[in-house]
Amino acid sequence: MIIKPRVRGFICLTAHPTGCAAHVQEQIDHVRGKGAIENGPRNVLVVGASTGYGLASRITAAFGSGARTMGVFYERPPREGKCATAGWYNSAAFHRAASAESLYARSFNGDAFSDEMKATVVEAIKEDLGQIDLVVYSLASPRRQHPRTGEVHKSVLKPIGEHYSARTLDTDRSEVSEVEIEPATEREIQDTVTVMGGEDWELWMEALNGAGLLAPNATSVAYDYIGPEVTWPIYTNGTIGRAKVDLRAAGQRISELLKANAGGDAFISVNKALVTQASSAIPVVPLYISILYRIMKEKGTHEGTIEQIQRLFATHLYNNEVPKLDDKGLIRIDDLEMEPEVQQEVNEIWPQVTSENLREITDFAGYQEDFLKLFGFGLSGVDYDQEVDPMVSLDG
Ligand code: NAD
Repeated sequence: MIIKPRVRGFICLTAHPTGCAAHVQEQIDHVRGKGAIENGPRNVLVVGASTGYGLASRITAAFGSGARTMGVFYERPPREGKCATAGWYNSAAFHRAASAESLYARSFNGDAFSDEMKATVVEAIKEDLGQIDLVVYSLASPRRQHPRTGEVHKSVLKPIGEHYSARTLDTDRSEVSEVEIEPATEREIQDTVTVMGGEDWELWMEALNGAGLLAPNATSVAYDYIGPEVTWPIYTNGTIGRAKVDLRAAGQRISELLKANAGGDAFISVNKALVTQASSAIPVVPLYISILYRIMKEKGTHEGTIEQIQRLFATHLYNNEVPKLDDKGLIRIDDLEMEPEVQQEVNEIWPQVTSENLREITDFAGYQEDFLKLFGFGLSGVDYDQEVDPMVSLDG
C-alpha cells in the first residue's frame, strides 16, 4: 500500500515502515560517527524502548557500546491493510540493524506496568543475559492500570491550584491562540502521579533485584524535564511536575538499593524539550519548542534525542566519566536549552508570536518536520509514492 501521513491533532494515525527504518538508521549513524563509548554497559534493559528518548537510549547502548539490549514497549502491530504504530516499525528496524552486527536484541510488546510483563522480562533475562548492568526507564503513558488494585489511572496535563491561561499553538491548524485550563482536582493530581511518577520504576528495580538480576555496579536512569518559567504552570508546577517530584524520590530510593548492591547508582537526567509523541500532547510546549529550535539552530547548539542521549552516555555515565550533578543531584543535559541567553531570547520572541508571523519568527517548520519524522515521513532517500508492505514483523 502507499502510506501517507494522516495527522489528527497531536497524533499521526499512519506510520511508514521504510521511513521509520531510515529514521532509526540516522540515529545509528550519529552514534557510530561519535565513536565507541568506552566502558559502556554490556546488558541493558530499556523500558519504553520504541520511540523518543528510550529508543535513542537503546540505540546508543547497542551501537555506541556494543551492548545486548532488551526493550519493552506498547505498540500496535500491523494488520492486513493497516499500518503499525511508528514504535513497532522503529523496533523492527532496530532488530534488523542489530542482527546485521550480530548484536543481541530482544523485545517485549505489552504493558510494562503489569506484573506479567515484569515476570516475563525477568525470565528472559535469566535465560539470555544473566544480569543487567543498565536499566533505562523511559515510559511516557497517558494511563496505567495499577497491578495491585486493577484500577485504571489516567494522567492529565493541568496546572495545580490556579487557573492557567497562556498562548499555545494548534499545530494542526498552524494557529496561535490562548488556552485556558482549569486547575487539576486532587484526584487528578494523584492519578497523574500514579501514572507518571516513580512507583513503576521502583517496582521494576525491585523485581530485578529480587531475582538477583542486577549486576554489581548496575546503573539505572530515568528522564525528567524542568524547562523555562513560561511552561512551569503547566509542567514543572503542574500535575506532570508533581509526578516528576515522585520520580525523583523513587530515584533516591533506587539509588540506595543499587549502592547496597555492590556500588551501583541511580540517576535522573533532565533532558531537553524535543518533539516526541509524548511532548506534542502538552499544551504550550509545541510553541515553546518552535521558538527554542529557531534560537538553538541559529546558535549551532540544537540537539535531537539521539544527540542528547549519546552525550549523556559519553560525558556522564560512561567513557571513563562520572555523572556531573547539579545542586539537586540531577544530571542536566538540558544545559544548552537552559543557557540564559537562549532563555532570554525565548522570552523576547514569546509575546510577539502570532498565527501570521509564526513561520517567520519561530522554527515551526522544524517542529513540523520533526513531528512527521516521528512517524517515518519526510526522510530523505525514501520514495513515499512507492508501494510498501505494512506487514513488518518485529524480528525483521
Ligand atoms: P515517547 O512517547 O516517545 O515514548 C514513550 C515510550 O513508552 C514508547 O516506547 C512507548 O511504547 C512506551 N510505553 C508507553 N506506555 C507503555 C506501557 N503501558 N507499557 C510499555 N511501554 C509503554 O516519550 P518521550 O518523550 O521519549 O518520553 C520518555 C521520558 O522522557 C518521559 O519520562 C518524559 O517525561 C521524558 N522527557 C521527555 C522530554 C521531551 O521533550 N520529549 C524532555 C525531557 C524528558
